[in-house]
Amino acid sequence: MNSNGLGLHIVLTGAPGCGKGTQARILKEKIAIPHLSTGEMLRAEAAKGTALGLEIKALIDGGNLVPDEMIVEMLSGRIDEDDCKNGFILDGFPRTLPQAEVLENMLKQKGITLDAAVEIQVPDEIIMERILGRYACMKCGHGYHDKYQKPNIYGVCDDCGGTEFYRRIDDNRATVQNRLVNYRALTYPTIPYFEKKGLLRCVDGTGSIAAVSKKIDDLLAIK
Ligand code: AMP
Repeated sequence: MNSNGLGLHIVLTGAPGCGKGTQARILKEKIAIPHLSTGEMLRAEAAKGTALGLEIKALIDGGNLVPDEMIVEMLSGRIDEDDCKNGFILDGFPRTLPQAEVLENMLKQKGITLDAAVEIQVPDEIIMERILGRYACMKCGHGYHDKYQKPNIYGVCDDCGGTEFYRRIDDNRATVQNRLVNYRALTYPTIPYFEKKGLLRCVDGTGSIAAVSKKIDDLLAIK
């Protein structure tokens, strides 16, 4: 709960592959508030195969950002849904300074106060290895890694028993390089922005998933 008793509203930020999605899914289980990933929302839209979906897919597959007008309304509507009334974990938004300002105004209009922006810090060399090795269960989305997080039984998802897995099309070396360039140029400026607002909390994201999760719990005072 934050100071006005309205639940926990946080932004998880950091470079692509720093572990935002993984940590958001762990947090979501622990504190029972939804994980809002703009990347997942956009991939769902892309999968519909509509004209808009195809436009979004081309941008994602090239590692480029999707224009704000394609996201902001979608995100605002999602925040208005019932399950967000006790808070949310925002993953992948804001990705630019203008988006940070849009978020601030959007939340103000909804009477919501952001509690923290947690930056998960991981060096670029580690990021590339993490992203190129990652894959997920087709059925439940549980994430794995070729080297660091294999399923207990080869080819079977630990969580749901699913036997089909996928890799994201944008998880290839050239696209990741472009995503990292975009991160430095466009997303990184949101870090000092959150710092000025007194919301920034930084976590070293290079340890194990459990170790990073523990650090996030500690700084958000989650038991
Ligand atoms: P993610 O799942 O967060 O890695 O996002 C995958 C892709 O979705 C990104 O590389 C962008 O193409 C797009 N995307 C996700 N969130 C945003 C955002 N806030 N603004 C612009 N594009 C986004």
